[in-house]
Amino acid sequence: MKNFVKHITVVTVITFTFMISCTESKPEVKAELGYDDYPVYSASDLGVKYSSDKTVFKLWSPAAEKVVLRIYDKGLGGEEVNKISLKKVDKGVWEAELNEDIKNKYYSFQVKVDGKWNSEEVDPYAKVVGVNGKRGMVVDMSETNPKGWEEDLKPELKGIEDIILYEIQIRDISISSNSGIKNKGKFVGLTEFGTVNNEELSTGIDHIKEMGVTHVHILPAFDFRSIDETKPELNKYNWGYDPQNYNVPEGSYSTDPYDGKVRVREFKEMVQAFHKAGIRVVLDVVYNHTGFTNESNFDQLVPGYYYRQWDDGKYADASACGNETASDREMMRKFIVESVVYWAKEYHLDGFRFDLMGIHDVTTMNDLDKAVKEVDPSIFVYGEGWTAGDSPLPISERAIKDNGFKLNTIAIFSDDIRDGIKGSWSAHDSKGYVSGNLENREDVKFGIVASTQHPDLDYSKVSYSKKPWSKSPLQTINYVSCHDNHTLYDKLKISNPNTSDIELLQLSKLANTIILTSQGIPFLHAGVEMGRTKYGVENSYQSPDSINEMDWSLKTKNIKLVDYYEGLIKLRMNHPAFKMKTAKLLQENLKFDKTEDDVISYTLNGAAVGDKWSQIKVIFNVSKESKDFKIGAGWKVASDGEKFYEDGSKSNKIYSKGVVKVPKVSAVILFKN
Ligand code: CA
Repeated sequence: MKNFVKHITVVTVITFTFMISCTESKPEVKAELGYDDYPVYSASDLGVKYSSDKTVFKLWSPAAEKVVLRIYDKGLGGEEVNKISLKKVDKGVWEAELNEDIKNKYYSFQVKVDGKWNSEEVDPYAKVVGVNGKRGMVVDMSETNPKGWEEDLKPELKGIEDIILYEIQIRDISISSNSGIKNKGKFVGLTEFGTVNNEELSTGIDHIKEMGVTHVHILPAFDFRSIDETKPELNKYNWGYDPQNYNVPEGSYSTDPYDGKVRVREFKEMVQAFHKAGIRVVLDVVYNHTGFTNESNFDQLVPGYYYRQWDDGKYADASACGNETASDREMMRKFIVESVVYWAKEYHLDGFRFDLMGIHDVTTMNDLDKAVKEVDPSIFVYGEGWTAGDSPLPISERAIKDNGFKLNTIAIFSDDIRDGIKGSWSAHDSKGYVSGNLENREDVKFGIVASTQHPDLDYSKVSYSKKPWSKSPLQTINYVSCHDNHTLYDKLKISNPNTSDIELLQLSKLANTIILTSQGIPFLHAGVEMGRTKYGVENSYQSPDSINEMDWSLKTKNIKLVDYYEGLIKLRMNHPAFKMKTAKLLQENLKFDKTEDDVISYTLNGAAVGDKWSQIKVIFNVSKESKDFKIGAGWKVASDGEKFYEDGSKSNKIYSKGVVKVPKVSAVILFKN
């Protein structure tokens, strides 16, 4: 048997993102069924609409008996300066119009339901909030635009197939003492060009640019609840998978969380800087659950509606965090779609990564994918194709891997290749294919063909998926590590005891060589290119900076590895053969060679996809000894596992007389013109 945890159909792979402060008690049973009968309001004007002569507030709350709006001078504390009763208009919407200029004032809503006043809340559609997200702010959004924002241009992207994702966390990337970055832990830390580590090697945004990736993927940076924004001196750390206000950037990443406009402007400055550097920006979004349950603004303003319940009225919890949102209810679906479109337009974002996407229904995901592509067809949507627990949503409707064929152009993370390469995420000492576990060979091949149908695969031998789940290679995200679980270096170290540092880095290099030569969309965890460690800490969602920070001295120590990644990324960018656009092209132009189990070798027909190399041969040798292969004459060495020779001019001692010698635990890449 394979050393993988057996999976059940419902819960595929449980990652740790969801395990954020799940301390809240479950709400009392409120069997207010009939949510589907609530009126649906279809216009896109919920929230606050400001102009200098009037401001209009609209809140959807069909169960409310009364709704009041309070106006404040500050985002926290102080007495209200005005209190207004809203009037019920149409389709469960309550409205107030203030005919005066209330720019930069703060506000809250409070609803009375079943004879009881709920707590004061920010409406879910709020675009700007005060410190700790307690009150909304009335803002002229044009005042939040940094200089030159109207001229901000997205970097060129020839096609989705060119995407290479690089996952960062706002605080991790800059917080260490050797980052050379002034605004540590802030959005604007990523606008600092020219920063270096102690040995003058580039850091921060310059480093990401040098890597050659096309997209940064930013861990949650919308307003989340776990960091007290009034106490920056505590240096608290959290990944941020505990949403509070979906349409607002997180305050602790701004230089002034009290003035709601600052976080908005600084987030835009960061996007602008990335775009200037030629890098597109993806936001990790977590619509599947909220940080609070019954204390959330959703539940205080429209009790029960935004969450799924079981038949007995108990809140469902497929996020393993106390609740799951109900994307299949019209007004929640509308909220998610409008929220994503808002980020795409207002912040010029280029992609969205959906946490626990399996909690959302297929219809919602396809609707929002379509809606953002109307804003910009190159916006890329992808997510985790699993849940973290059972859900009342029928399996056939979930946006999970098994329903990949129903998701129009949305991509899904491949846990198949991830665990195939490095070993099980949960059995820490289990080895993957690169560490010599040959039972995982078919899992790796499954990733190489980007989870599509391919004649050379035996799907019965794939550990997790017994059939393809991508209809196109562009719907598979191939990766071996991310923020969840151990870093790649730590996982390899734990599962390969008594292995030298040099050998561990060799394994790590081989792991991502498989990822970056595979078909599909590759994804890298920031710092993997320099052997990043979290010192064995697995679920570091609230570990201190000392665990989570990127230690930029590793770049100096492992500069050869960094250079290798850059060469590998360049190779991928230059060659369409690694990025075929359809399953049919793969079936016809990728052929696996017959080899022993400790080798995977395949040939790409570059000529068929317009590659300047007519053929490419990729060979992975995971055995502990070098191996000779007769491949015939006419090949040139593109990579000997150490460096890249794309012009083919270098005579290379590993290939002569039609025989290539592949070093132990290495990848060799050859080509014909
Ligand atoms: Ca916050």
